[in-house]
Amino acid sequence: MRTFFNNCRLVDGTGARAVESALVVVTDDQITWCGPADAAEAPTPVAGDRQVDLAGRTLLPGLFNVHVHLALRLPFPEQRIDPFAPGYRAMLIYRRALEAIYSGTTSLRAVGEAHFMDIAVRNAINKGVLPGPRIQSAGSALIATGGHGHNSVSCIEADGVDGFRRAAREQLRAGADLIKICLTGGIGTPGEQPADKQMSDDEVAAVVEVAHGANKRVASHTGGSQPVKDAVRLGVDCIEHGYQFDEEAAQMMAEAGTFLVPTLCVTQELDYMRRHGVQEWMLTKARAAAVEHLNSIRRAVAAGVTLCVGTDLLPSDPVDGTVATIREVELLVEAGLSPLDALRAATFNSARLCGVERLTGTIAAGKQADLIVVDGRPDVEIRDLRQVRLVMKDGAVFRNELPNLDAPGLALPGVELAGGTFARVY
Ligand SMILES: [Zn+2]
Repeated sequence: MRTFFNNCRLVDGTGARAVESALVVVTDDQITWCGPADAAEAPTPVAGDRQVDLAGRTLLPGLFNVHVHLALRLPFPEQRIDPFAPGYRAMLIYRRALEAIYSGTTSLRAVGEAHFMDIAVRNAINKGVLPGPRIQSAGSALIATGGHGHNSVSCIEADGVDGFRRAAREQLRAGADLIKICLTGGIGTPGEQPADKQMSDDEVAAVVEVAHGANKRVASHTGGSQPVKDAVRLGVDCIEHGYQFDEEAAQMMAEAGTFLVPTLCVTQELDYMRRHGVQEWMLTKARAAAVEHLNSIRRAVAAGVTLCVGTDLLPSDPVDGTVATIREVELLVEAGLSPLDALRAATFNSARLCGVERLTGTIAAGKQADLIVVDGRPDVEIRDLRQVRLVMKDGAVFRNELPNLDAPGLALPGVELAGGTFARVY
């Protein structure tokens, strides 16, 4: 089956300017042609091809959210308790993965989940057992004993070089795509600050050695200038959050090619936290971190650090009139990226972080057909990204609000209400 998306604006995700009168051709699960509609080599439709007039809407790559915990439950418990049996957890993760793709996030990176249930859901989707988004899974996050996230069942505690090596190898054995560590304190655990360093250098280096030996990347929850510098120096591939760091740390990230996933939603969207009944101690920490977090990300933008899009919140959760993934893209614009660069952060940059840039993350011939269509011009006015009308992954339609495309999309009760932590279905 060939589909001709006619009369669209093409934003390909690389940061290149929009092609104003574009044609994008999808054949089965892949993009087979894209470019100016009047190009001499543009293919012409034949009988049987599906033709869709996008009426000047913008077509762009499906969005990534590279920092999610799909079994998220708020408010966070202060003690380590597991509210879900493992099987139910898997179903909850799957449900929320569907809500994510419905809302425009076609690729997810799960950075800390209990019982390898993110890996189970990933495998089911990859094998075609169930439809859903692309998922990369870290398995459990690795933390020092008593470290950040010890109050969450999605983290496992380790100590010393041997302990962290073993914990990292256990994630790889279970099929993890990356290793997640918490180098410093954060917001969601009481009794610590975001710049408190909790892992020793030799522990970090041990995890990096194990992960890189298996050609996997290390993502490190990190706040504070010195911990960020230590992480970069020790070979960590990606800084998560970056709650506070100075210009020198930003320069080091830029020079080393270290990725940064700011998760600005965590400190900038306190209303979301409040509506979830988040405790005062956590609100106080988030509030205290907010200004310096945003300023740090501004320093990263100025230094040219490669930014990606992640939220900690569920990708589909309602935030400030849109969903979390899209709100985070807007926040990156508030931190100083141009709309075009913020869209690149949500697509090409995040695909590079996940090592899937040859497969997806841009609109180009030969890539998988992971794309969204929105009303308006999000590369000029980022808030237009809120107006998602079509979501496609591997050429399959997951959401369709286009008047002239006959494809049903997902048929799941209530999925249009996307917003798993508010849904109270658990
Ligand atoms: Zn997180």
